[in-house]
Amino acid sequence: MFIDGRSVPEGHLVDTDICIIGTGPAGITLGLEFADLPFNVCLLESGDFEPRPEISELNKGPTTGRHGEALDCRERCFGGTSNHWTGWCRPLDAIDFDQRSWVPHSGWPFAKDHLEPYYSRAHEVLGIGPPRFDAEFWKHPEGAQPLPLSPDLVRTEVYQIEARRFGPVYRQRFERASNLSVYLHSSVVELHGRPDSTRVFDVTAKTLEGNSFRVRAPFFILAAGGIENPRLLLVSRSRTNVGLGNEHDIVGRCFMEHPHVNDIGFWVAAQSSIDLSYYRPWDEQEFRAVMGMLVLGREVAIRERRLGFSATLYSRPDEGVRNPLSPSVQRSAADVEDLDTSGLDGSDVREYRCYCRTEQTPNLNSRILLTDDRDALGLPRARLHWELTEQDVLNIREGLRILGRALGEAGVGRLRMPADDLDAGWVGDIAGGCHHMGTTRMSMDPAWGVVDANCKVHGVGNLYVAGSSVFPTCGSANPTLTIVALAVRLADHIKERMR
Ligand SMILES: Cc1cc2nc3c(=O)[nH]c(=O)nc-3n(C[C@H](O)[C@H](O)[C@H](O)COP(=O)(O)OP(=O)(O)OC[C@H]3O[C@@H](n4cnc5c(N)ncnc54)[C@H](O)[C@@H]3O)c2cc1C
Repeated sequence: MFIDGRSVPEGHLVDTDICIIGTGPAGITLGLEFADLPFNVCLLESGDFEPRPEISELNKGPTTGRHGEALDCRERCFGGTSNHWTGWCRPLDAIDFDQRSWVPHSGWPFAKDHLEPYYSRAHEVLGIGPPRFDAEFWKHPEGAQPLPLSPDLVRTEVYQIEARRFGPVYRQRFERASNLSVYLHSSVVELHGRPDSTRVFDVTAKTLEGNSFRVRAPFFILAAGGIENPRLLLVSRSRTNVGLGNEHDIVGRCFMEHPHVNDIGFWVAAQSSIDLSYYRPWDEQEFRAVMGMLVLGREVAIRERRLGFSATLYSRPDEGVRNPLSPSVQRSAADVEDLDTSGLDGSDVREYRCYCRTEQTPNLNSRILLTDDRDALGLPRARLHWELTEQDVLNIREGLRILGRALGEAGVGRLRMPADDLDAGWVGDIAGGCHHMGTTRMSMDPAWGVVDANCKVHGVGNLYVAGSSVFPTCGSANPTLTIVALAVRLADHIKERMR
């Protein structure tokens, strides 16, 4: 059932069993898991079925530090940002869950094996294929092969691509479910606790038209995205004046993005041109597409103390043939000088492109803060301060070096290396991918985490968080498959508590 929050009388109190704040992939997955069970679930959604400018405006806020990350890339409507995402799905790698001595604050409270059954269920929610991402499983329909690279350095895996719009796809399911009530135009502005209690009692939802109402429940789940989750905790001060779950000043900190670098050149001798078809999207019957990509080998990542690194390769129709004696091609060959470069001698070369996305370290200085400026509902706007550490930048360059080495060793081609200099132009061009992670991070230690292994806020008995804000580290895989898997897992935990 859908209810327009603007029609709810001022001051009305809704009593329910579970209150979910936000209906993006995280909130909708939770709703699907709870549908038709013998308890009532209220979902509060800031937006309507379609995005509206006056509601999107609530997302606006300043950014400092690195440019290239705009807070208004998110959608406020039923379905959340899935209403305009790209749908690239891949799980985190096993190493991403490990405690790595070279990655500060790394280590999830559980290993990837623990998440596997939830990943499988997440595939159904996202409408993608079997939970396999290896090149042995995914055969190209026209027989195109992955590049013959050493898997110790770089291995080929795939993305499964299905840009499922959660809003339109799941609307009917929410209309039909006997126990789900979705309140649209209902932005939560505060979660209320009491200094003498460890519980959240109710939340206030407001509409842009001016009416407000409260929702009371034994369980609350914040699923408002990687920026709004910390924003709502920080503004909720009826229990302590530092915000809910923020006794250790960790809410909003350790913001992470996936640094993206586009347009790295990659040369191949023209007469031995390679087939990159495996790395272009190919149609699947059950869902939209599969596409090969390259990911750093586990062994080399441990040996060389690297963060996550992955790359997609592509060619453009206008790619020309270049002379191998051009300075840039010479430079790429020089970067792998211990390798045989004779394959490029005496012939022209064809140019392809590489696009990489990488992991960044959790950094306390990258964070969401509140500003003095307020939005139309009176809520302090979020400010994002995003930094990249030297380790984050070097990781991109060293990841490319390993990729270049793998291509060179296999005799496939040469990769143009970006300049070593940390002030070089390409460093300034590093952008994010609208993946907002880490701001309510998971840790068993309340000093270093906002939520525990069950995604429950430390020190608050009945408040949980869903979404990529709980990621303690972020690997290089796009986040939504993992967001959905964690939401399925959280739903199981709450169902158990409801029993
Ligand atoms: C252009 C683009 C392309 C992307 N491509 C990919 C991709 O290929 N692969 C991938 O894995 N990820 C991709 N992403 C990221 C992906 O969209 C997010 O990871 C995902 O949507 C996060 O889901 P969520 O439910 O946590 O948050 P959201 O989808 O942001 O949903 C949050 C919901 O909470 C609601 N809300 C917010 N504040 C309040 C409040 N105060 N009260 C009530 N409701 C509130 C919002 O209206 C929204 O509906 C992309 C993102 C963008 C912008």
